[in-house]
Amino acid sequence: MLERVIDPEKIDVQADCIEMSELYTGERVKNGRILKGFELVEIGEGDGIEVIGNCRDIMGIHVLVSGVTEDSAQAIESIFSEVINRMKGVEYRFRKENVRIIVSEEIKEKFSAECVGRVIYDAIKAIPAVRSVKVRIICDENEFIKIIEKSRGIHEVREEKSRNLKDSDVSRFYGCVSCQVYLPHHVCIITPDRPSPCGTLYGEAKAAEELKLVHYYFPVDRGRTIDEHKGEYEGVNRAVEEMSDGTITRVKLHSVLDSPPSTGNYAEAIVFYIPEENGFGIVDRSCGKKTPVGLTFDSMEKIIVGRQVEGFLGISFAYMKSPEFLKGDGGWNRVVWVSPKIYEYIMEFLPYELLKKIRTTS
Ligand code: SF4
Repeated sequence: MLERVIDPEKIDVQADCIEMSELYTGERVKNGRILKGFELVEIGEGDGIEVIGNCRDIMGIHVLVSGVTEDSAQAIESIFSEVINRMKGVEYRFRKENVRIIVSEEIKEKFSAECVGRVIYDAIKAIPAVRSVKVRIICDENEFIKIIEKSRGIHEVREEKSRNLKDSDVSRFYGCVSCQVYLPHHVCIITPDRPSPCGTLYGEAKAAEELKLVHYYFPVDRGRTIDEHKGEYEGVNRAVEEMSDGTITRVKLHSVLDSPPSTGNYAEAIVFYIPEENGFGIVDRSCGKKTPVGLTFDSMEKIIVGRQVEGFLGISFAYMKSPEFLKGDGGWNRVVWVSPKIYEYIMEFLPYELLKKIRTTS
């Protein structure tokens, strides 16, 4: 059961410690200090702000909330990027265990763990259903490692839970246009079988939209099925066309070769077509090496980000576990190469018969 807890207008967080405005959302910070982070909201008791360690190059944000459901708790994670991106000279990228906070030189004296803690605390405390909030800003390395592991486990359990739901079980998907502050024509469609390229799960998008926690999620009525195999629906096409300003008119949710979804800013991995092998490769963001098509993750991302490019597709690790993964193009049967981190990941769940046909590089 979800509670309607906040109106987007009410996320009006101001801080004495740093200049904040919605106008700074979308600001790109180049050459700033990069802090590695994670985001975790779980049900728990406590009140106030706790800073653990001195923040140099890491900053985990761990929140305990009470008074809301588990669905609401996971949706509250959406608030972090929303409010931190409103800080002048600060950019918050990626999600869950891959967060990067980039702090510009000009603002580095003002940006502090206490300030981030205060802003997050105030934003969550403004949610009427929330009874108590404890914000823990973790800069101590040992505690960071301990909680990021915990966070990974909790997010895996949430993913597992959401896998029980299929695209065919629901008549409503969710769209996200958060990346439009950088990429004006990009739209993500998030379904039970297709978490977004940045890793947002259907349940998270649904809860965040129903709670009106942030303004960028919207419901998408699936409408008539055009192609069940590739995942094409009339309502999805209509929504994408409208939200992309007519730039994209057709999307097949489970295809990379034929009208694939466009790729947002925070894709965890990219699927690419290898013509010589009539198969696919998948490279993750941490892989700096060239792939079999001669491109690195970064160079591919520059070509496809914000666009629908047949033969390339931004995806999340969670989507790799979906039974509908690239179903329209043959799924795992067509994958011939993956980067080492992905190989390690798929070893956990892919049957040996499929795994043995996939090579990687060391
Ligand atoms: S990648 Fe998609 S789901 Fe993720 S923030 Fe961008 S638009 Fe939203």
